[in-house]
Amino acid sequence: MLAEIKGLNEECGIFGIWGHEEAATLTYYGLHSLQHRGQEGAGIVVGGNGTLQFHKGLGLVTEVFSRGELEKLTGMAAIGHVRYSTAGGGGYANVQPLLFRSQGGSLALAHNGNLVNADELRFRLEQQGSIFQTTSDTEVLAHLIKRSDEPILKERIKEALTHLRGAFAFLILTETEMYIALDPHGFRPLSLGRLGEAYVVASETCAFDVIGATYEREVEPGELIMINKQGVRSERFAPKVSRSICSMEYIYFARPDSNVDGINIHTARKNLGKQLAVEAPVAADVVTGVPDSSISVAIGYAEATGIPYELGLIKNRYVGRTFIQPSQALREQGVKMKLSPVRGVVAGKRVVMVDDSIVRGTTSKRIVRMLREAGATEVHVRISSPPITHPCFYGIDTSTKEELIAATHTVEEIRQLIEADSLAFLSQKGLLQAIGRPDDSPSCGQCLACFTGQYPTKIGGEYVGTFVQTSRCEY
Ligand code: SF4
Repeated sequence: MLAEIKGLNEECGIFGIWGHEEAATLTYYGLHSLQHRGQEGAGIVVGGNGTLQFHKGLGLVTEVFSRGELEKLTGMAAIGHVRYSTAGGGGYANVQPLLFRSQGGSLALAHNGNLVNADELRFRLEQQGSIFQTTSDTEVLAHLIKRSDEPILKERIKEALTHLRGAFAFLILTETEMYIALDPHGFRPLSLGRLGEAYVVASETCAFDVIGATYEREVEPGELIMINKQGVRSERFAPKVSRSICSMEYIYFARPDSNVDGINIHTARKNLGKQLAVEAPVAADVVTGVPDSSISVAIGYAEATGIPYELGLIKNRYVGRTFIQPSQALREQGVKMKLSPVRGVVAGKRVVMVDDSIVRGTTSKRIVRMLREAGATEVHVRISSPPITHPCFYGIDTSTKEELIAATHTVEEIRQLIEADSLAFLSQKGLLQAIGRPDDSPSCGQCLACFTGQYPTKIGGEYVGTFVQTSRCEY
């Protein structure tokens, strides 16, 4: 996976814990394991002892937090966030959790996802007198909560959530309570666990493993969970509809050791490779995967075809974070810094190069060239997703439609542009089969909008594409 130089980026990872005296330190470890979901900023807010304290900053979790900073964050509850900026842009002010202090009590917010009606809501709120302190879409929730007429906070949060449309996994911390909410379509993953008596919640289950917590269950789409000293309470703020979890989580965002919606990522990716082998076999000497996400896929492809898997590409893990800034110029430079071919593996060989996706095509072309320069006699590219033809509005930075090469080119045209000997993408049906979803109907459980243009929600007041599914609510 070279998402950060390819042009696909996850927006965030979130972690929360309630009821542990080492809440801040455990959140630090949790965020560290979610670092792949965002590298531009990190923050932790602690509470549960009558006050909220925070520390946040730009950079990696290890850069933002020193032991001294963590020791200052005392409290039995914490929420944390790692950020990759898309909606609202970068900058310190947008690093989360966002903390709001008012006479009625303080509140901290951490959000993974993207609200598709944030501009509309913000305009309305500003007309009503709200003044925003960030350019992040997340802040609208705080204003909606504050402006709600409901008498108690839980009801105000529930009411505020019903105004939001799009993808959101929210953690909210007050001086005395923690709230967890997932949007009615469940675009982003969110799991619940236990660590002794403490409750934990995270974007991915790998964060549970790192702190020794056990997985309990998924947060359900449309569910609001409240945790306080009295215990845990679950309610719905939206009716139950079929889930539309992001397919890209399985294809490359999530870590291989995570389970997303009960499905192990490494296993799902191996199955993607096996399915790709069925759909697009080729005569070759060696199979290699673009690290990290495509290694599991390449192993699956090799197993199914009998062609040996080899480590033909090496990722340089010690490139500084300047190379993960989301600008085109750095993406262009970044590919050479981040990836090297293994000459001894590919020289004189017909190579199958497995990757997770093609966004603009520039990265694929460079890797193909790199393999040829290292002596590969043929390079056959196999992609473990269908062609990305539409932008994402739900928190994944997929660039604009004009920048997506598959939106304007046929598979053969892309093959020529990336200079591959052959090119094949996984079919949509194959993707769902490999993940273990029963069918490719709109209620399959997956969001497929960047492959189909059929968005599960209205975008800016309209459905984009042809998708109108009456059984789904129109959040
Ligand atoms: S449009 Fe694509 S990237 Fe965005 S949530 Fe849906 S599947 Fe994920």
